[in-house]
Amino acid sequence: MHIVVPIKQVPDTAKVKLDPETGTMIRSETDAVMNPLDLYAVETAIRLKEQYGGKITVLSMGPSSAHRTLKEALAMGCDEGVLLSDKAFAGADTWATSYALSTAIRESVPYDLIITGERATDGDTGQVGPGIAAWLNIPVATYVARIENFDGTRFTLARLTEEGYERLSVPLPCLLTVVKEIAIPRLPTLKGIKRARASEISIRGKDAFPFRDEYLGLRGSPTRVVKIETPQVSRKGEVLVIKTEEDLEKAAEEFVRFLEERALI
Ligand SMILES: Cc1cc2nc3c(=O)[nH]c(=O)nc-3n(C[C@H](O)[C@H](O)[C@H](O)COP(=O)(O)OP(=O)(O)OC[C@H]3O[C@@H](n4cnc5c(N)ncnc54)[C@H](O)[C@@H]3O)c2cc1C
Repeated sequence: MHIVVPIKQVPDTAKVKLDPETGTMIRSETDAVMNPLDLYAVETAIRLKEQYGGKITVLSMGPSSAHRTLKEALAMGCDEGVLLSDKAFAGADTWATSYALSTAIRESVPYDLIITGERATDGDTGQVGPGIAAWLNIPVATYVARIENFDGTRFTLARLTEEGYERLSVPLPCLLTVVKEIAIPRLPTLKGIKRARASEISIRGKDAFPFRDEYLGLRGSPTRVVKIETPQVSRKGEVLVIKTEEDLEKAAEEFVRFLEERALI
């Protein structure tokens, strides 16, 4: 089985600084790491490879520094890293990102399964996985919490929903987006780190695959982030001083009115 795991390099959220003037992220001051939720996709792929054999390709679209993130996945046990890096990809929204990733997957690797994280901790849309599946016209199962069975051609899966779990049967080739519950990501071993260090990451630009130029990067993106704002939260509230039984009754009435006005009860 050939598994492709798209992984995204994101700013280390513990170190994010925002420009107070513009409200945008100061990227130069921020360390980049593998999207933490992608570790679960990588771990799921490695477990499937251990059980059924095969090969795992990790794929990222991002700046050249993203090759470190790919090497991290190789150190965990993935086999091959491909980085799509070119000015032409810059500023891509989820539509253009999923177009570029799906084109690279379709044109370069005969895949059976694609596993993505549930969402990226910066963009946070959760759209890229289903977007790739749509471009490739393959079935997608999102929020997968358990792989219950694989018979060589179909997976039986449990999807996390608001009410509980939904059981699905999905044929290969397909795309799964996985949630944290699926597996605990392993730490790379010393042997894995050495192997990753010795491996080459294949860096591919816009001429490597038959991309449609007008679908790439900012130019190819139908959506724009117009402004990013930090919500103003006021926790001052209204203070009701209670000294007598009568005050308590009034305060309770005030509180109920407050909740009713906001349709909270
Ligand atoms: C604050 C902020 C807000 C944004 N809002 C929007 C918006 O509203 N609409 C919009 O279209 N774009 C938006 N973007 C841009 C968005 O981050 C990028 O377009 C990017 O394409 C991926 O979207 P995402 O981060 O939401 O990924 P998600 O869809 O949340 O990522 C899901 C999974 O897809 C895979 N994946 C995602 N990106 C890559 C990649 N580059 N390489 C390999 N695998 C990947 C990973 O497995 C990841 O776990 C926003 C960016 C920021 C920083």
